[in-house]
Amino acid sequence: MAKIKTIQAREILNSRGLPTIEVQISLDNGLTAQASVPSASSTEDYEAWDLLDHDSQRYGGRGVLQAVKKIEEIIAPALQGQKVTAQKNIDQILIDLDASTNKSNLGANSILAVSLAVARVAAQSKKQELFVYLQDTFSLASPRIPQPLFNMFNGGKHSDTNLDFQEFLLIPKLQSASEMVRMGAEIFKELGLVLHESGYDTDTGVEGGYAPNLDSSLEALEFILAAAIRAGYQPGQDLHLGIDIGSSVLYEEKEKKYVFPLDHAYFSSSNLIGLYHEWLKKYPLIYLEDPLAINDWAAWRELTKELGQKILIVGDDLFTTNRRRLSQGLQEQAANAIIIKPDQTGTITETIACLQLAQQHHYQIIISQRSDESNDDFIVDLAVATGANYLKAGSLSRGERVAKYNRLLKIAELIK
Ligand code: PGA
Ligand code: ZN
Repeated sequence: MAKIKTIQAREILNSRGLPTIEVQISLDNGLTAQASVPSASSTEDYEAWDLLDHDSQRYGGRGVLQAVKKIEEIIAPALQGQKVTAQKNIDQILIDLDASTNKSNLGANSILAVSLAVARVAAQSKKQELFVYLQDTFSLASPRIPQPLFNMFNGGKHSDTNLDFQEFLLIPKLQSASEMVRMGAEIFKELGLVLHESGYDTDTGVEGGYAPNLDSSLEALEFILAAAIRAGYQPGQDLHLGIDIGSSVLYEEKEKKYVFPLDHAYFSSSNLIGLYHEWLKKYPLIYLEDPLAINDWAAWRELTKELGQKILIVGDDLFTTNRRRLSQGLQEQAANAIIIKPDQTGTITETIACLQLAQQHHYQIIISQRSDESNDDFIVDLAVATGANYLKAGSLSRGERVAKYNRLLKIAELIK
């Protein structure tokens, strides 16, 4: 059985030109593979910590040389000689080496980069596709092609626009991966033309979606629908819409108010839930991510009770791929779907454990990118292997986003 021989780490750049980590692992049988990790621009209270240098002389403090050093001086010696296919065992060693509750000693960035690279080189050594290897290793059921959630508009802290909500999403109906990707790409292209003709900016935000200044939040939905129809698709039938409200940053804790500056409006929790009801009457919306703030549990419960049978009510900032937060959510009967981001927890084993807890309680699963991405497409194999319902990997532009959809196309061929 192949054993780990060397682990090297380096500082590379992510999609925003900020440092992140790449790890390269070699085995005693001569095989080598590498993995790189995203980093979060929104670091929520409950997510695992990335280890950053905080040296203001380099990259404004965001260098990762400390994390690289931890990998080479602490993690590498501990994993040298370990059987590479013992993923759960290796992840446990990483967790024990760190010995904190939030990965603050070694950093979730160091730990995840190693965990991913181990899985990738182990798959190679077993001559298996990564998703097949993950299925075998974690005894997962049959693979499934997830529905992509395509980012059409970037707002919030992901772009320089007046859009308050973080993402406006296009959700193709479930069909072949190539048809879903084609629909997304055609409508995205058409949307650019529609915006241009209407005199709007067509530059894009960090996840590749358009980022113009608009007159209202709902205008973004109108534009997507117009572009879909012009591209020959029927909204409500061929596709649906979703919004990542990212509401935590719009919530004023002291006054218990949600403030939407673009729409010149503010809402109490129950008025906001009323607004969501109105939207559902007007638009083919089936997905609301972080529609409420992370500690507004009573409102989450109310919204889930009222609309949970009709649409996906998705916790991202609410859960941060954290089993404790998810358990609390289950108790509160909050949300019916969860965003899973491996870097929020640190190892593949913990990511899958959180996802399986959600699956046991019939939550829908969305595997997601981060805003600051690398070109690594690991999350796609993870989504297919775990039978996730959805994959959120950004827009149909920008290499680091498109890399994920291209991997999906390849996997779809392999599991035909
Ligand atoms: P983040 O955004 O990586 O900035 O958290 C992604 C999302 O909210 O879905
Ligand atoms: Zn989100």
